[in-house]
Amino acid sequence: MKIQHLLVLLVMLLIQAVWLPREAPDPSAGTETSAVVSTEAPTEEETEAPTEASTEALTEEETEAPTEASTEAPTEEETEAPTEASTEAPTEAPTEAPTQPAVPPAQTSYYPPLSPYASAAELKARARQLHAEKTVYITFDDGPSNLTPHLLDMLDWYGVKATFFVVYRPELESVYREILARGHAIGIHCTSHDYSQVYGSFEMWKRDFDQMYYYLTQVIGYTPRLYRFPGGSYRELSWMNQAVAYLNYMGVVFWDWNVIMEGGSTKTTKEEILANAADGLNRTLPVILCHDGTGMDLTVSCVPEVLWIYLSRGYTFRVLDAGVPPIQSGDWNRWDY
Ligand SMILES: [Zn+2]
Repeated sequence: MKIQHLLVLLVMLLIQAVWLPREAPDPSAGTETSAVVSTEAPTEEETEAPTEASTEALTEEETEAPTEASTEAPTEEETEAPTEASTEAPTEAPTEAPTQPAVPPAQTSYYPPLSPYASAAELKARARQLHAEKTVYITFDDGPSNLTPHLLDMLDWYGVKATFFVVYRPELESVYREILARGHAIGIHCTSHDYSQVYGSFEMWKRDFDQMYYYLTQVIGYTPRLYRFPGGSYRELSWMNQAVAYLNYMGVVFWDWNVIMEGGSTKTTKEEILANAADGLNRTLPVILCHDGTGMDLTVSCVPEVLWIYLSRGYTFRVLDAGVPPIQSGDWNRWDY
């Protein structure tokens, strides 16, 4: 028994002396002398190094990484990334997107903007300047319609820029943006083309205008600066001055025309349309009225020949803007063209 105990103790001491200092630094180190050499070296180099390297590596890289990778990665990357992407992207994109066309054709004028209070002499001088440059304006009312995309392609083919006075067609919302994307100008025509709805009173007209004004602002991302009264401003209404004052207040210029292709009628023949269009050659500053509303197929089909009447004579088609003296009729005609 005693011999066995002694043998066991000896074996244990040997094992402790040989193995323990290398494995763990904290053995109750019954063997100080043998352990001092073997504990300090290993504890600093082997245990600390491994503990720093392995604990830091493990705690920072492997423990955090795995926990982040395994717990946070799915939660942060998969949950936050989508939430960032889904919360920030949609909130930033819509706010940035509309501000991108902040310099739309209708608001960047070819020549410096004319004040609404510009004198007749100023307006005439500008008109003569544009006339000397053979400038012509083609405008399309009552769209967008299913004809508008085809019309835009035709205008592109000829490199011609036009002005569109649009009506409320939310089902064709992308067409409003397409008009701008192709470099044309866009203005308000009306929400409803029903004269009894638009011209019943100042309040009715204002409601019709406001609805289209705010709708179009939301769709295209900037406030429109051009307006055309449905049927033109050629009407004697007691509140017309009030409407014009309101337009001035809103920073909107209204436009009539001095060349009419078809009068909005589908009964005009092609020959009549072309003859009407050529009338503009006699104008100081031709502003041609056309229509691209539903059913105006004949007008749209005549557009290439109408454009050629002017292009072949060296005219340039430009968009209406604040630098062009407005063609206005009635009591608001401020200059004689
Ligand atoms: Zn119209």
